[in-house]
Amino acid sequence: MQMFDWIMSSPQSESDNPSILDSNDSLASFRSAFHIPEKDGKELIYFCGNSLGLQPIAVSQSVQSELNDWATLGVEGHVHASRPWVSYHEQFARSLAALTGSLESEVVAMNALTVNLHLLLVSFYRPTPTRFRIICEEKAFPSDLYALQSQAKLHGLDPTEVIRIVPAGKDTQTIDEHALLQAIREEGPRLALIMIGGVNYYTGQVFDMAALTRAAHDVGAYAGFDLAHAIGNIELHLHGWNVDFAAWCSYKYLNSGPGGVAGAYIHERHARSDELFRLAGWWGTDKAKRFLMEPEFQPIASAESWQLSNAPVLSMAAHKASLDLFDQAGIQNVIAKSRNLTAYAASLLARIAEHPDFNNAFTVITPTQRGAQLSLLFHRNGKAVFDALSRAGVIADWREPNVIRIAPAPLYNTYSEVKEFAVLLEEAVLNEIGEDKNMTQDL
Ligand SMILES: *Cc1c(COP(=O)(O)O)cnc(C)c1O
Repeated sequence: MQMFDWIMSSPQSESDNPSILDSNDSLASFRSAFHIPEKDGKELIYFCGNSLGLQPIAVSQSVQSELNDWATLGVEGHVHASRPWVSYHEQFARSLAALTGSLESEVVAMNALTVNLHLLLVSFYRPTPTRFRIICEEKAFPSDLYALQSQAKLHGLDPTEVIRIVPAGKDTQTIDEHALLQAIREEGPRLALIMIGGVNYYTGQVFDMAALTRAAHDVGAYAGFDLAHAIGNIELHLHGWNVDFAAWCSYKYLNSGPGGVAGAYIHERHARSDELFRLAGWWGTDKAKRFLMEPEFQPIASAESWQLSNAPVLSMAAHKASLDLFDQAGIQNVIAKSRNLTAYAASLLARIAEHPDFNNAFTVITPTQRGAQLSLLFHRNGKAVFDALSRAGVIADWREPNVIRIAPAPLYNTYSEVKEFAVLLEEAVLNEIGEDKNMTQDL
């Protein structure tokens, strides 16, 4: 058993030395802007930023500032807080536009993700007797599928006749993009919209949103994306790609806290239009007239018109602290580091996965079109490996029946942590899977 780390301790080239990679990392200082969870006084290896990002240290001060304004100003804080609450959400437009590749008038921070999906589907899913089909991908996040099913029912339709789920490959677990494009062409004039996760939560597969949008538009359908795993993780050009609508949450790669305020994008051609139906609330109406309390809804000519209620300032204060970090780092730099960090992780994992002594313990199912996530499909005993990693101080994510997801987050994870993880994984695989399984003599 003393041989457990012999693959990971084999000689390294300079480009494979985590200390050198860390010292050359221009974003290294951002780690100190986060609270890193610890166990027994030792920092955990936190690879779960695709599920809940870590807390920026500036969050407490940002929230405290709003609590102070509330304590000292009461209702006057709407106008006289240091960041007036009546327009609090407006300060996110610039950051969210940069993260999503949109115009500022196309994005808004509001509600929660599934709520936003419903609000957008109310606008973009307007089935007719001839055009009523929706395409999504197999292994879409369940909430998204539930949203689509209930929207079909809302229109008195049978979800199984509405929703076409493009299957994932049996071996690869990923979606063949050609099959997706083919399905769009086949549905043709029956297709109302596609709604796809821009990055699949299970495999980490990144979809070609530009190509899917073009294909949907070619048959007269809308293209919408769930960006829960995409925002803050991969390059997005929603406006340039001509995407019709999108929604995301902010607690994954954006680190804005559990249940934090979500966001939505609506292309300006729709956002400006009075024609497109939207559910209305007072926060979506013309700002100049909002407090005149008039009976007629006058939608703001931007994504803001999908807002129903006044802004949840306390959760937005956390969002503010976290988006400030993205503004400082620059999303291009975040993505550049992420590519290197994940490629480094992938190369170490491949050495374990492909080594004959490890007896085909797992396969990395994440394709090369990916963001920060790698999904490891275990062929047996995956849960035992996961539990061993947890005991050793790794916070990763377990997905039934047999997948461990890891997501090294470029703002706070290091190359050294990736290396340490690989050593721990090697040890766990050997202990939990290797034992009785025809290990070679020299082990
Ligand atoms: C995380 C995630 C959700 C969660 O939805 P909430 O409304 O924020 O609870 C939904 N869809 C996808 C694709 C996700 O990744």
